[in-house]
Amino acid sequence: MSTWRLIFPILIGFIISFLAQAVALAAACDPKFEDKLCVAEHAYARACKPLPDSYQHFRIEEQLYDLFQLSPEMVQLGFCRVEELRIVRKWGENSHSGFALGRQIVIDRTFLFEVADMPGDRAFRRVVFSFPGYTDRPMRMLRDFHEIEKRLFQAKPYVAGSSYEFKHFMLHELAHLVDFNFENNPQPNSGYFACEFAAQILHGKTEQALGYSSVFPEQFGHNVDSAIYKRLADSSISSFYGASWPTEDFAELFADYVLLEHFGINYTIEKDGEVLFDRAKQFENENIQNKLAIVKTVLAWPQMTDVERHAFMDDRTHCRGIFEPTLVQ
Ligand SMILES: [Zn+2]
Repeated sequence: MSTWRLIFPILIGFIISFLAQAVALAAACDPKFEDKLCVAEHAYARACKPLPDSYQHFRIEEQLYDLFQLSPEMVQLGFCRVEELRIVRKWGENSHSGFALGRQIVIDRTFLFEVADMPGDRAFRRVVFSFPGYTDRPMRMLRDFHEIEKRLFQAKPYVAGSSYEFKHFMLHELAHLVDFNFENNPQPNSGYFACEFAAQILHGKTEQALGYSSVFPEQFGHNVDSAIYKRLADSSISSFYGASWPTEDFAELFADYVLLEHFGINYTIEKDGEVLFDRAKQFENENIQNKLAIVKTVLAWPQMTDVERHAFMDDRTHCRGIFEPTLVQ
């Protein structure tokens, strides 16, 4: 009996320390989403108020924690650097879902409700965007690059998995915060892909080379130009939106790489059963390896030594070579 009295507290002590370690291993930091989420009239409004009870239906906090738990350490640290997740009522007018500003992420309320209202089944699904959705629309002008992907998302909003877009949006904005952080990027004003973007322009491999034009035949109809997706698959560019600017290219690639590698979520575009674009296959293409190496290195940042970090930052400053992420243990 007395032996048991002695062992019992030790045993409990072991269990507590084991659990504490498990918690410490599970997350690099505490993101405190409940303290950061707030609602405001618009992006630059002074006041940002706590979330009203009506928001509970969308389980935004819960979804953010789900995303956080499965994310690699660098992404977790990025989430902890975010100071405010501001949901705004008036933003959607100019076709944006949100943006990153300093250490703040601004999200359009209507957009958030659309993508956060998930079905009960929270399992991650393979994402397939398929045609047709809008078959008899005439030729139209697209306002910006993003509209192509945005319309794809809308083609089958629920079947496509709204959870995908929620995660993609958050990871995309977070990638901006990582990209604009001078602690890990020597050129935070121009972004990690500044050198690659300059090379694309020098070699004429711009969005025009992808076949992009601001006037499109209806993307979801029988006139769809399938070739443009095949050209994207063979390019070094993450997405049509990514073709618009180096920082967007990085954010798009970063988000899709994390989704594929850490969540097992692929992204494909299909038409009549034919796969026009497959993200996982694109990641095997040699043309995109240089940018992927940068993304992989950035994600490995917490595990890198100072020597490795400086080597990478030096390469970025001088637009030099391909940094080899296999150097990282
Ligand atoms: Zn962006």
